[in-house]
Amino acid sequence: MQYKIALLKGDGIGPEIIDSAVSVMECIGAKFGHDFQFTPYLIGGAAIDALGIPLPQETIDGCLASDSVMLGAVGGPKWDHLSGEQRPERALLGIRAALGLYTNLRPAKLFPALRGASPLRADLVAAGFDIMIVRELTGGIYFGERGYRTGKYGEEAYDTEAYSVTEIERIGRAAFEIAMKRSKRLASVDKANVLETSRLWRKTMHRLAEEYPEVAYQDLFVDNAAMQLVRDPQQFDVIVTSNMFGDILSDEASQLTGSIGMLASASLGDTTRGMYEPIHGSAPDISGQNKANPIATILSAAMMLRYAFGFSAEAQCIEDAVDAVLAAGFRTADIIGDSEASACSCTEMTAEILKAIG
Ligand code: NAD
Repeated sequence: MQYKIALLKGDGIGPEIIDSAVSVMECIGAKFGHDFQFTPYLIGGAAIDALGIPLPQETIDGCLASDSVMLGAVGGPKWDHLSGEQRPERALLGIRAALGLYTNLRPAKLFPALRGASPLRADLVAAGFDIMIVRELTGGIYFGERGYRTGKYGEEAYDTEAYSVTEIERIGRAAFEIAMKRSKRLASVDKANVLETSRLWRKTMHRLAEEYPEVAYQDLFVDNAAMQLVRDPQQFDVIVTSNMFGDILSDEASQLTGSIGMLASASLGDTTRGMYEPIHGSAPDISGQNKANPIATILSAAMMLRYAFGFSAEAQCIEDAVDAVLAAGFRTADIIGDSEASACSCTEMTAEILKAIG
């Protein structure tokens, strides 16, 4: 059977890290006998340069016609002068909406070998942590009405947040189902002491919690959650939250694992297609220098194998290879931490992972 995968390499380090992930997928395909076919499509700054828009219709159509989608990252200083709708980053919101991807899974797991790269004190990470952040992806303030107007102090800008019961219910249900498959602990993060959308969020989550009596459920305000994550990350298993809170908390959690270059993500909707991408951006400061950590993208490929195609053994093979390579002491510059290793390049790290896969 052939699996069609759309590749959205994007900008900055996007092409470098996607090339790494593709070589790992090809290696897995050869080892397990799968035929993965990759087709590149333009997105972000690369699409603006070629066609004048960040998300061409051909890209959307190509993704819709594929079995799964892999994204690198978009954006960079070259396009920073552009206004809102024309910026490369608008393509992210557009492709997520076009593919109906409302559930974003962001696992923040500390690999044992990287304890020394975590900014937290050794005693706080001694037992490790493995958190699944479930972020709502197509609603909330990133998709609300926005604009400029004249206010009390003259010109002002505004962004608005809206959440429907339907949107909260579907992300809530996804989170409860994930919690049921893990350790049956779920923390819902909101700002219900201030925001009306958060009060509806909390009320809806409480109703769902009654359907899942086996899940130990708790509410947290987002400011407390941000603090608890650095105080004791191990207390969390599954966290569910809104679009913007999830964006911020997952970057915080990523750093606890050693580097943002370690965190994978899966964006899912009602079909099996999904889109798989690292949580970091296009890292213009290291782009074109072969310095990027490819692990977040390689682990995103593992998530694709597991969620889009149901290939658990293949996904585990990649995760074990990453674990083994880190345990053997290989480090890209971002995860050197207190290790004595000298930094390896993006291509060297990829080659080690390929070797470990066999
Ligand atoms: P960033 O994630 O690109 O970089 C933040 C820092 O982390 C930088 O120092 C970078 O070098 C480092 N970093 C990120 N990924 C790394 C990796 N794989 N290996 C080693 N180091 C890594 O965030 P930023 O600097 O705020 O944004 C840069 C551009 O990326 C902006 O245009 C932003 O809008 C865009 N962006 C895109 C996405 C996306 O495409 N999903 C997400 C976030 C930001």
